[in-house]
Amino acid sequence: MSIKTKLRLGIGLLFLMILLLSTVGISNINALKSDTENILVDNYNSLEYGKNMIAALDLMQQEQDGITAFEKNLNLQEQNVTEKGEGQATEQIAQRLAMLKANPQDTQLHLLIRKDIFRLMELNMNAIERKSNVANQTARTGNTWIVISSTLCFLVAMTLLVNLPGNIANPIKELTASIKEIAAKNYSQRVNYRSKNEFGELADSFNTMAEKLEEYNNSNLSKILTEKMRIETLINNMHEPVIGLDENRTILFINNEAIKISGLRPEEIMGRTAQDIAENNDLVRSLVNDLPQHENTEVLSSVPLKIYADNKESYFEKEIVNITIKPTGEKDKKLIGHVIILKNITPFKELDFAKTNFIATVSHELKTPIASIKMSLLLLENQNTGHINPEQQQLIESIKEDSNRLLKITGELLNMSQVETGNIQLSIQQSDPAQILEYAVEAVKVQAEQKQISLHVDKEENLPEVKADTEKTAWVLINFLTNAIRYSQQSGQIHIAIQQHENGVQFSVKDEGQGIDSRYRAKIFNRYFQVPGSAKTGTGLGLAISKEFIEAQGGHIGVNSEIGMGSTFFFKLPKA
Ligand code: ADP
Repeated sequence: MSIKTKLRLGIGLLFLMILLLSTVGISNINALKSDTENILVDNYNSLEYGKNMIAALDLMQQEQDGITAFEKNLNLQEQNVTEKGEGQATEQIAQRLAMLKANPQDTQLHLLIRKDIFRLMELNMNAIERKSNVANQTARTGNTWIVISSTLCFLVAMTLLVNLPGNIANPIKELTASIKEIAAKNYSQRVNYRSKNEFGELADSFNTMAEKLEEYNNSNLSKILTEKMRIETLINNMHEPVIGLDENRTILFINNEAIKISGLRPEEIMGRTAQDIAENNDLVRSLVNDLPQHENTEVLSSVPLKIYADNKESYFEKEIVNITIKPTGEKDKKLIGHVIILKNITPFKELDFAKTNFIATVSHELKTPIASIKMSLLLLENQNTGHINPEQQQLIESIKEDSNRLLKITGELLNMSQVETGNIQLSIQQSDPAQILEYAVEAVKVQAEQKQISLHVDKEENLPEVKADTEKTAWVLINFLTNAIRYSQQSGQIHIAIQQHENGVQFSVKDEGQGIDSRYRAKIFNRYFQVPGSAKTGTGLGLAISKEFIEAQGGHIGVNSEIGMGSTFFFKLPKA
């Protein structure tokens, strides 16, 4: 039966019951009313007349005028004869009254009339009693009917009360629970509701939908599983160690290479958090110690990791890739994990070492012959060794310039190789920034004059001392200044400034040269990098060495430059 019909029947039945109950109630009340009305009209009035007649009789006995009142009440009684024998009794009173009228002093008649009135009253009293019994009976019957129909109403209402809400709510509840299960991806959920009503139809549609979803999900799941296996195989076959973490840093996957270098067993790793493993494993600790907290920061380690595995030392470059997703319906990206990739750079590192050693040896070896060339040039210039004509003098000058350049290049190469092999020896001490500045300016004065470049020095008063290696810092400042002179126009201006900056002192060199394109600004501190199109006289090492020197002293180096607007190179050193 449909829910609609059920509701109609239920409410209709209740309506009928209410109708029945009110009909029974009203008809019983009406029956009772007519019973009591009968008593009042038929008998109570006769009693009243009887009582009045006795009073009138009493007056007549005392020889007063009661006859009119008597006759009035007798008339009324004659019109209200309702009981059996009442007519006869009234008749007898009328006859005796006629006799009394003829003989008013007849006490015997008085007594007889009184007796007749009493009989009349007794008749009516008996009728009242009988009618009251009838009314009682009517009331009892009414009660019984009301009780029967109320019980029926109660039973019907109770049945509806117990069954109807459940009939409607239970399937809704069951359906809601099933829909929640489906929403929680439990696609095997079905609704077992076998009924021909609307809910039955709804349950059937729901089951069809769930079945289709299950089918779709299963086909997708197997596809996803195959894809997962493919990716796992791919990651496992990669020659580079790869570790995957979720957002809570629990290890999701780790390939064979990573297992090999970590020295751990797979069962010791899977499902545990990286911090947990890091407590007892140095490699994992160094891998996870700088995991970014935000999705926008990617980490590419600048210092390679040195790992001893397979009886040899290997070098790895760590790269942390953040895995972010945009959940459906949301606007912001969410970090859901990281992939740590270690690039094996051992062969490059070995080549680099070989190159550095080679450079160090060559530049060291070249220093002595260059020094002797310079010495020979000095001797040549001396007039005592013979006369030199102007052409020869020009040649000597050019050899001098080239040998100076050669000496500079070998010096830089030696510095570089020292930096690369980690052999720079810094003698950091309390130094006066003004002194470093003066020394550097003095060293480039002649070079600047040759190009008619004016050097403007701006020294802030009461500068604190800095923690620095005076020689290396001066070298950096000279490098800035020679670059500024080299890249400035003839008769340009260079501003050199030292000023207090946060917790230290900032040195800056500002030129009015061509400036540096934003594309190259970050690269100029890389080794051997030269801005394309710039004068090829340098080595591309000066700024790289400067960076190493400054950072080794706990400082910071940088540049502000716009193309065509000149450049400002600066470094900051901490206060002593
Ligand atoms: P180099 O020996 O070639 O000067 P550096 O490391 O000192 O090597 O500089 C790297 C590159 O940065 C240079 O080739 C040049 O293109 C650019 N550069 C350095 N200083 C300046 C400057 N003051 N103005 C413009 N470009 C500069």
